[in-house]
Amino acid sequence: MKRMAIENKLALNVFHTEDNDPHIEIDKEYANEEEIRKVVLACPAECYKYIDGKVTFSHLGCLECGTCRVLSHGKLVKSWNHPFGSVGVLYRQG
Ligand code: SF4
Repeated sequence: MKRMAIENKLALNVFHTEDNDPHIEIDKEYANEEEIRKVVLACPAECYKYIDGKVTFSHLGCLECGTCRVLSHGKLVKSWNHPFGSVGVLYRQG
């Protein structure tokens, strides 16, 4: 069996999104750059961006791994919940 690259495995995932009801909320005014960068670098789906001193977040494409929640200690990430019902990521290969 041929091995697949992780990028190709992730590309097979299916996302059912609720655009107007994000399951993660962040504090957009949070200003500790070191803590922000830690979360930005750790998110495997690159949901966080830190540009010109401003952090932005999009829940679309979130893999629901919980890494940002654990690293944030309730500072940058204000609330984290699994999406309701059939909304969210559907893993296929990885
Ligand atoms: S739960 Fe994981 S994939 Fe989703 S935003 Fe947090 S770190 Fe990124």
